[in-house]
Amino acid sequence: MSLTPERQLKEWQAGRPQCPNTDSECCPDFSCCKAELLAPPDIRDAYIAATREERLGLVAAKANRGTRLSGYGNAIVPPLAAEFVSAYMAISDCR
Ligand SMILES: [Zn+2]
Repeated sequence: MSLTPERQLKEWQAGRPQCPNTDSECCPDFSCCKAELLAPPDIRDAYIAATREERLGLVAAKANRGTRLSGYGNAIVPPLAAEFVSAYMAISDCR
């Protein structure tokens, strides 16, 4: 038996993700299909309280996390990192 989207969100917020809803949709974090994806309670509460635009931002931020992290990693310039580490070592007690 499918839940209405509104009921599905309430169940998801309470930590009981289920799918599909009557619109054939999964939960926002897809934890209904993969339990380890369940967002922490504070994130679920924020999602429920958010406007439609804010919700899209919350989902997008989580969805492209891996891409952003690899981008940050690729942005490291080794000579600059070496300069930073030696400058830090010069002013710290770490020798
Ligand atoms: Zn699902």
